[in-house]
Amino acid sequence: MDDNQTKIESNTDSNIDQAKASSTLDSQQERLDVEGKNRDFIRCTFCSCLILRPSIAALTEKSEINLPKIERAKVEESSCRKFWLVQDIYQFENLSFSRTVDDMKYLACAECDIGPIGYQDQSDKTSYIAFERVSYTEK
Ligand SMILES: [Zn+2]
Repeated sequence: MDDNQTKIESNTDSNIDQAKASSTLDSQQERLDVEGKNRDFIRCTFCSCLILRPSIAALTEKSEINLPKIERAKVEESSCRKFWLVQDIYQFENLSFSRTVDDMKYLACAECDIGPIGYQDQSDKTSYIAFERVSYTEK
C-alpha cells in the first residue's frame, strides 16, 4: 500500500512582484496649501461626499490614536498619527457623530454613515479627521 507517495513539489518560480506601492503620502506632499491648511477638497472615500472645503483644517501630528475598523468598508483598525485639525464643527460640510468611547466621539460621513474617519476630543471639542481615511480632490 505505498501508492500514497504523491509528492507534490511546487517549485513554481513565480515572480512574486513585491513592488510595494510606494507610500502615496510622499507624492501627495502632505496636501498642504501655503498656509499649511488642506489644499484640496476632503471627501468621504466611500461615497465622495464633501467633508471639508479647502483651507479649513491644519495638518497635525498626534501621538498614535487607535481608530477601530470600519466594518462596512473592511478597513482594519489602525493607529493614526496624522490628522486634519478642525476647531469648529460648523466648518464641516457634512459630518455625523457616532458613538462616544472614553473621551472621544467618533466621526463618520454624514451621507453614507461609514466611519470612523476621525474623532472629536470631548475635553476641548476639537475634531480630528484621519489623514488616511479620507480622499482628496481638486474640485
Ligand atoms: Zn460617505
